[in-house]
Amino acid sequence: RQARTGGGDAEAGQDAVETARRHLVQPWPMAGSVGAEARALIGEGDGIYITDGNGKRLIDGPAGMWCINVGHRREELAKVMYDQAMQLSYNTPWYTMNAPSAELARRIADHAPGDLSHVFYTTGGSSAVETALRFMQFYNNVRGRPEKKLILSRGGAYHGSTYLAASLNGRPRDRDWMDGADDLVVKLSSPDPFRRPKGMDVAAFADMLVAEFRDRIAEIGAERIGAFVGEPVQASGGVILPPDGYLKRIRAICRDNDILFISDEVVTAFGRLGHVFASGEVFGIDPDMITFAKGVTSGYFPLGGVVISERLLEELRRSNHPDAMFAHGLTYTSHPVGCAVALKNLDILEDEVLAHARAVAPYFQARLKTLEELPLVGEVRGLGLMACVECVADRESKNPLQLDRAVGVRIDAHCHELGLLVRPLINMCVMSPPLTISREQIDDMVAILREGISRTMEDLRREGLW
Ligand code: PMP
Repeated sequence: RQARTGGGDAEAGQDAVETARRHLVQPWPMAGSVGAEARALIGEGDGIYITDGNGKRLIDGPAGMWCINVGHRREELAKVMYDQAMQLSYNTPWYTMNAPSAELARRIADHAPGDLSHVFYTTGGSSAVETALRFMQFYNNVRGRPEKKLILSRGGAYHGSTYLAASLNGRPRDRDWMDGADDLVVKLSSPDPFRRPKGMDVAAFADMLVAEFRDRIAEIGAERIGAFVGEPVQASGGVILPPDGYLKRIRAICRDNDILFISDEVVTAFGRLGHVFASGEVFGIDPDMITFAKGVTSGYFPLGGVVISERLLEELRRSNHPDAMFAHGLTYTSHPVGCAVALKNLDILEDEVLAHARAVAPYFQARLKTLEELPLVGEVRGLGLMACVECVADRESKNPLQLDRAVGVRIDAHCHELGLLVRPLINMCVMSPPLTISREQIDDMVAILREGISRTMEDLRREGLW
């Protein structure tokens, strides 16, 4: 059993790591070590903590991949999965249905902004984005606008690892060595105020972004553009918060040009920003579709989906092509176990976690902000319970320490020693702990991060890299 779980026992943990090096291809590997990577084994989780293969307890700083929203080892979630699997573990979704998927859709629609009324379930975030885009293509085909298919995306974006979703990704390293459907995608600037042109204030920067958006549409022609896809807060790009009012202005331009606005809330939904959905409640926008995943089950089961506007569905129902089929579905669409655990997870969020997340968020942000005292730190930014510590060579040039691209990895290594898992992103560290984190635990997390960054500064100085 130990060899299978890696829990607690250091030797069993080492075996698992060795077996992985021989047989496992890990996600996001480097060519030089693909299929042979040694990654830290995580054996157990409990609340905001995880335990590594050596039995060392760490704060789960990134909550898995922004997903363990209600925390690890929730017995009620484990139990509901067991009970549902014992009652009905699967049904064939293209001619039968199950009750948990319908009930979850009703509750999701209740929380969704505008006229978003129906849910299409997927297996995660990439398949949710893929579904929204294929739905847009189908919608325009049925409306007799087969040329209206281009997709607007932005620098800094991350939308997934399936082919079309990945084609939207705007971080250079996601595309440097990878192909994509470039003929379908138009890239715009990242709405990153930290890296706005020198001497420009944020309001002028917002005007510049909006002007770019309008100009590109005018240049290409709205009749060729099907959708804009954007994260309300660019998560994997480094927790990039757009300038005030930017999202509302982009939303209005999309509406004026019959371009579907797809809000990718794979990270921001289900509590990360204190609400089930952030589009309406935090940013005041009503998208045509919202994609979600991760926090919908707090990572206990692979589930995602798209919430779709009633207006779009109504248009399809009234089309001249009642026989046209949206030929799109996954074996695990509407999975009963996933939907059952999501329902229980939503109960927990509504009953205890959302209010707590809203209450501690200002403290979380204020404590992290104190790290700007450290000279390596260029900026700490964030919203709700997501934040990014961005390191720079110097604050004047904002040079992202390209000489030492692994500064985030160095900070993570020190923090691991000290009891905190950090998500390194080149020169940045992303923090997005389970939403149940207490004020005392936030103090611990920030103290460790401060020490990890201080030790990294010493290393860089000693090695003459900074
Ligand atoms: N969209 C966003 C905004 C994401 O952050 C991610 C994953 N990090 C995805 C989509 C893809 O989700 P998944 O990994 O579940 O396919």
